Amino acid sequence: MQDMYSVFGIDSRVRAVCEDALSDLRETFKTIDETAEYNQCKVLSAMQKNRVAATHFAASSGYGYDDFGRDTLERVYADCFHTEAALVRPQITCGTHALAVALSANLLPGDEVLCPAGKPYDTLEEVIGIRPSPCSLAEYGVTYRQVDLLPDGGFDYDAIRKAINKNTKLAEIQRSKGYDTRPSFSVAEIGELIAFIKGINPDIICMVDNCYGEFTEKMEPSEVGADMIVGSLIKNPGGGLAPSGGYIAGTKQCVERCAYRLSAPGLGQEVGANFGIMTALYQGFFLSPTVTAAAVKGAVFAARVYEKLGFAVIPRSDEPRHDIIQSVVLGSEERMLAFCHGIQAAAPVDSFATPIGAPMPGYDSPVVMAAGAFVQGSSIELSADGPIREPYAVYYQGGLTWPHAKLGVILSLQKLFEKGLVNL
Ligand SMILES: *Cc1c(COP(=O)(O)O)cnc(C)c1O
Repeated sequence: MQDMYSVFGIDSRVRAVCEDALSDLRETFKTIDETAEYNQCKVLSAMQKNRVAATHFAASSGYGYDDFGRDTLERVYADCFHTEAALVRPQITCGTHALAVALSANLLPGDEVLCPAGKPYDTLEEVIGIRPSPCSLAEYGVTYRQVDLLPDGGFDYDAIRKAINKNTKLAEIQRSKGYDTRPSFSVAEIGELIAFIKGINPDIICMVDNCYGEFTEKMEPSEVGADMIVGSLIKNPGGGLAPSGGYIAGTKQCVERCAYRLSAPGLGQEVGANFGIMTALYQGFFLSPTVTAAAVKGAVFAARVYEKLGFAVIPRSDEPRHDIIQSVVLGSEERMLAFCHGIQAAAPVDSFATPIGAPMPGYDSPVVMAAGAFVQGSSIELSADGPIREPYAVYYQGGLTWPHAKLGVILSLQKLFEKGLVNL
């Protein structure tokens, strides 16, 4: 292996530190493998129950009427996530789009959306209208209320009870921390929050932004009371093979409204050609539990390597995982750039590029992004990014295979080592 590592310019001291970190993770990896095995069975039984067959991979065009492949995939998602219905479409362009469809389909003028667990994902600020934006929900007369987490990261139940009023129609709960510093929520915690909200008013629609969370645990939020779970196919459930798309799984009533919003009132789920990508969507979903496990292993490994070197990591390597994101607080711009340089150098695509910080819409400081993906912007593939500002934290995620994720983490440390930014 050292010969092979030499090809990538990895110093034997870097390798030694990493192998040492890895030797601490045997039990954790066993748990990750068990989750993958459980979820593999979950996906497989949903496919078998719906008698997935080769005919379901056929392309459709035009209106996409009678597209059995598309309809069956939606039933597979619904069964796997234990929901009444699902909308799984390449016409949903990204996670934000899926979330925007789910929100705007289920909120009418005068309704209020509540974020009971702190501010939502950055891009939802414009969807909701927290930051003014054309076509935001605010423009359509939907109001917004937010309850922040308690200083210890827990839900502020008293404040949530006070925030709920006769207009509260929908609660939006984000499973993954995204670019925030709070911990990600477990499915069990989300279940408690949903039970509390439903205890006050059972008619409040509880919607979970499930991005990055799928298959990291044995259960999904839809199994603990969520009316809708929403995510992107170029993250976990696409398994790295889906070239585009998003999903919304939930109650029949909510999902039907989403379909009417996505296409048109009266048309709903009946239309929408699949453009010949069904094999990738089915096979990607089939691979998703093990691809997600590879990404989680990479995240835990990154946590262990960097915590051993004295850096703050969120979550720590021994904490349970609820998503595939690992943040590493590197403390300086130089270290952030070197880390990202290493991730880029490990990529199968664009490995020759050098990531630098650049302005990004929606951010008040430059952002550095490292990725060399087969699918543009896919963050189930190995990637790292972060806004260049205090506390200089990188967010690491993805890796279609564990050996690739491992090489990425090792190369990140190699680049820090080469620049004299870390003592080994
Ligand atoms: C990725 C992500 C989204 C959606 O982002 P897109 O880039 O539009 O796919 C929303 N919420 C969370 C928590 C995410 O991680």
